[in-house]
Amino acid sequence: MEVDRSHRAPWQRTAAGAGLLGADGRLAPTIFAEMTALATRTGALNLGQGFPDEDGPRAVLDAAKHAIDHGRNQYGPGRGAPELIDAIIEHQRRFYGIGLGRGDVLITAGATEGLAATMLAYLEPGDEVVVFEPYYDAYAAVAALAGAVLVPVPLTAPDFQPDPDRLLRATSPRTRMILVNSPHNPTGSVFSEETVRHIVRIAERRDALIVTDEVYEHLVYDEQHVPVAAFQAARERLVSISSAGKTFSITGWKVGWIMSTPERIAHITAVKQYLTFVNGAPFQPAVAVGLRLPDEHFQTIRDSFCRKRDILTRGLRKAGFKVNDAMAGYFVLADAAPLGIDDASALARRLPELAGVVGVPLSAFARPSRRDLRSTMRFAFCKSDDTLHRAAEQLAALRGVELEPAR
Ligand code: PMP
Ligand code: GLN
Repeated sequence: MEVDRSHRAPWQRTAAGAGLLGADGRLAPTIFAEMTALATRTGALNLGQGFPDEDGPRAVLDAAKHAIDHGRNQYGPGRGAPELIDAIIEHQRRFYGIGLGRGDVLITAGATEGLAATMLAYLEPGDEVVVFEPYYDAYAAVAALAGAVLVPVPLTAPDFQPDPDRLLRATSPRTRMILVNSPHNPTGSVFSEETVRHIVRIAERRDALIVTDEVYEHLVYDEQHVPVAAFQAARERLVSISSAGKTFSITGWKVGWIMSTPERIAHITAVKQYLTFVNGAPFQPAVAVGLRLPDEHFQTIRDSFCRKRDILTRGLRKAGFKVNDAMAGYFVLADAAPLGIDDASALARRLPELAGVVGVPLSAFARPSRRDLRSTMRFAFCKSDDTLHRAAEQLAALRGVELEPAR
């Protein structure tokens, strides 16, 4: 009997999907784990992985301690803590005028589990999933685990908006899902309303699901976030996903949520309940406290990250990088080409020694064919003002540096 040597085990497919399976079969860590380990090892300032180095709202942290001290330490209800579900319903009404019922919400272990459960609930082998490239690594990994085919639509500098024709051409009768990450990691772009309308029309035409990743919804700096769910036409094919991690600087808590119709919530729960069943018992009521904070708190959070974006953007420009205007999120993109450096991947690995800073090469979020992204780094600005000022000063040392080819 012929042995099919092209067969890959599910774990191999998953790793390969995210570009973490070497030709020799060896597994690489994710770029985030690799770069944080590099920062820890070298003592460099870590502007790589997107986690804040300052605490978020005190009321949220205190509420978690209170929950631990008052018996919220066992498995909670499968759909999530009732007060968190209610707080999400209130939040959607307050910020977006969207009305949800309790059956429309499912709490998950971060947006990551929400995305994985949704993709695993609906994707069949051979189905196509449209993503916008560069893209967050989990999309490619889970699509590959499901045996689905990732179809990337390129986003290009300077505005990183998808080209409508390319988007249309990327779809086919096999398109099962369009994954919309806006505000977008890693580019910091926010899709225009026109783009979202176009995505909805294409999804209708292909009878595809729209799955959104809106974890940066409260970190849109120059305008208000408009969720895809605000577009009536999207609702019948929509699964919206968000998370508390970014908004409240609690990325380690891993509390996220899915919003859709009760029918789809039931489908996704069928998978989700065998991934974690439930998570974060004392953290869920604390996130409810966060979501119920007055509007001024959300404004303060946004203003604080906006100031940090400006500090890092100014600093990187002064250091000689070409920096995009991040409209949202935790990250700025900095092109090292004006410094005479064309390989950001090699640069990232030498940056601790050259400048005492860690960042992530943008190429980690894209296929190798995206040569246009090659000289660009992603730097996180969700760090203390002092760290950002120091990083910018240290990066100025890169002027005139000649990079050896990566070893
Ligand atoms: N989506 C995007 C775009 C992200 O940047 C991240 C990471 N922070 C996640 C999802 C994961 O969110 P969570 O930590 O809530 O799982
Ligand atoms: N979302 C974070 C980032 O983009 C990383 C999360 C992770 O480590 N998987 O940096």
